[in-house]
Amino acid sequence: MAEYSNPTYSCRNCRNPLASGAHLLSKSFLAKSGKAFLFSEAKNIVEGPKEHKQLITGIFKTAEIHCNICGQALGWKYLKAYDLSQKYKEGKFIIETAKISKEYN
Ligand SMILES: [Zn+2]
Repeated sequence: MAEYSNPTYSCRNCRNPLASGAHLLSKSFLAKSGKAFLFSEAKNIVEGPKEHKQLITGIFKTAEIHCNICGQALGWKYLKAYDLSQKYKEGKFIIETAKISKEYN
């Protein structure tokens, strides 16, 4: 086994594991509170109601995502992109870096 292992990103409030470094696609996103990461998969979250969101890159159908233990708002999930160049974001998750902490197992 290699010594390297992917970090886990956990809820900063309650340490609930939310996403794995193996599913981290990009670190260069921006959300209201500042920097955000794009993940292909997330777990232990609850999705809020669907809404349309106007972002710099266009209009998306999104849902807010929350920690399923403490309820903290984490970011959003892209449900649908209306611009063809943004389709790759569908089904993926934006999590604000201010809401998570990085842990090594
Ligand atoms: Zn939490």
